[in-house]
Amino acid sequence: MVLPIRVFDDPVLRAVTHRVPGPSEELDRLIADMTETVRHAGGIGLAAPQVGRSERLFLVDLTFMMEELDEEAQAGFPLQPMVFINPMILWEGPEELDFEEGCLSIPGVRENVIRPERIRISYHDQAFTKHTIEAGDMLARVIQHEYDHVEGILFIDRISPLRRTMLRRRLREIARGVVETDYLIAAHQRAA
Ligand code: ZN
Repeated sequence: MVLPIRVFDDPVLRAVTHRVPGPSEELDRLIADMTETVRHAGGIGLAAPQVGRSERLFLVDLTFMMEELDEEAQAGFPLQPMVFINPMILWEGPEELDFEEGCLSIPGVRENVIRPERIRISYHDQAFTKHTIEAGDMLARVIQHEYDHVEGILFIDRISPLRRTMLRRRLREIARGVVETDYLIAAHQRAA
């Protein structure tokens, strides 16, 4: 089921998320719905707060980008959507990268964000098997953006004060529901 996406400045995007206690049918359903939702919206990542759930869980789905990459770049690239449950970033590499980001919860806004180029993260997969991986490039970028969501942080919090001031009007419009998307967003936002 495609779930409506919560947009700025829905309080759930800022709420403290809870650890997922363990595997369950409900969790499986949420992950299936989030997978459908991120594909419907044409996104590459989605965190539980974005569908109104304060849980420490996000998805990264880079599969559709595979075709655009050469063989070398494909190595180490996830071949299927990845589910990160109760993630913890353990290490951030010393190199930083300035790269443009967008967010399904902040439609139409794209801004450059500086983040570490490589990270190490531990998480549980859907079966609650624990993994620790090191990620770089695009995967590291999307993981960090989604990880921020489960910490109640949005990418606009990480841009310069000047850029944020320039966006103020646009953000106010989004908060008031003056926003058009080709994917489903939460109804109360439109009515706000
Ligand atoms: Zn986002």
